[in-house]
Amino acid sequence: MSDQTKIILSESDLPKDWYNIQADLPYEMPPVLHPGTKQPVGPADLAPLFPMELIKQEVSRERWIAIPEPVREVYRLWRPTPLHRARRLEQELQTPAKIYYKNESVSPAGSHKPNTAVAQVFYNKLEGTRRIATETGAGQWGSALALACQMFGIECKVYMVRVSYDQKPYRRNLMETWGAKVVPSPSPDTAAGRAVLASDPNSPGSLGLAISEAVEDVVTNKVPSKYSLGSVLNHVLLHQTVVGLEARKQLELAGDTPDILIGCIGGGSNFGGFAFPFLPEKLKDKTSKMRVIAVEPAAAPSLTRGVYAYDFGDLSMMTPLIKMYTLGHGFIPAPIHAGGLRYHGMSPLVCELYRNGFIEARAVHQKATFEAGIQFARTEGILPAPESAHAIRVAIDEALRCREEGVSRTIVFNLSGHGHFDLSAYERYLNGKIEDYVLPESEIKKAQEALPVVP
Ligand SMILES: *Cc1c(COP(=O)(O)O)cnc(C)c1O
Repeated sequence: MSDQTKIILSESDLPKDWYNIQADLPYEMPPVLHPGTKQPVGPADLAPLFPMELIKQEVSRERWIAIPEPVREVYRLWRPTPLHRARRLEQELQTPAKIYYKNESVSPAGSHKPNTAVAQVFYNKLEGTRRIATETGAGQWGSALALACQMFGIECKVYMVRVSYDQKPYRRNLMETWGAKVVPSPSPDTAAGRAVLASDPNSPGSLGLAISEAVEDVVTNKVPSKYSLGSVLNHVLLHQTVVGLEARKQLELAGDTPDILIGCIGGGSNFGGFAFPFLPEKLKDKTSKMRVIAVEPAAAPSLTRGVYAYDFGDLSMMTPLIKMYTLGHGFIPAPIHAGGLRYHGMSPLVCELYRNGFIEARAVHQKATFEAGIQFARTEGILPAPESAHAIRVAIDEALRCREEGVSRTIVFNLSGHGHFDLSAYERYLNGKIEDYVLPESEIKKAQEALPVVP
């Protein structure tokens, strides 16, 4: 097997269960709190927004959770995804390291996000939901959900941040092709949207406002409607473990064991889904030498520069309070091109692993990230999403370190998506217009002054 460029699993190797890391954590997860009472939330608090099965998965301690057959049937449209050995990149870097990448860019939406969208829509369908509303910034989550809703015959309404709606028409066209209704946020369809439009008809919108609109939509709609989130929550990371489970099997087939695992982090779902299935051994034996690295943009450095505190998941302070590394819910990241990584907080599962020393975090700047993305495109052929290029940057850095130290290590990263809808960002880089953003400490301090007080 070791001379293969792609390690391909057959459809019969598609995992039958998701891996739930909560079964193996050697510590307790802090409870999620109600924003009003500051008491732990119960299932009843979440029931207006999510189907019961997803609420159960959120707190489940079962190690394995069966993937329903209708979900596996849709997964089979593109899964199992290939694991590639990046031989041409290795050659270019003249490194003794072996570099592998799991290729999630082959999904119809072009990223890992449909892995959870399909599962979430399935459970909604099962429990009688007729329509789902969500928000989208850059459009990746909206397109994954539109695809999944189309597959199960559920209506999909996407509140797309106005500035992206105007600037990124192709993601919108993709969502509409899959049958979704897409409106710019602020929209006249909700009270939250109308209020903003009344004071500023040209408002560019924000992710926080789009979340408020989607949530208002589902709680006021006459048709049974639910809300859906593309990252951060435990059940989202659970569904993404199909990525790591396949990768583990593929590395075994290749006869290799990973020394270093790398993934980029926005809300933590592609990283968690990729890395968690490799972690059970390390969680039992902390002296394990396998390193696991989460890579974030220097412009939104929640793990490397955030505080560990209870905070809201959204700008409008409507969500439950989550204990996490946060830059503050009021933090508005600079408009960097990796739109999917511009989040103030982080998945609590990822945060606790970091706090307990099981994973590392690294922040990288934009220019070095695009440079790595282009080096990857020119050797391996695939144009990576700017988000994924963060993982590539660190994979290349680790491979270069292997060269300096004269040691071979097996480096595996998750290619979370392709960059075919991000060509304007590449254009800017190629024209020398991308600049590094140095985030002043004062800006973080200011956003963190508004953290909620929790007794
Ligand atoms: C959304 C997205 C991310 C970041 O989100 P996570 O929840 O951290 O995975 C990364 N890569 C791509 C291609 C994305 O679409």
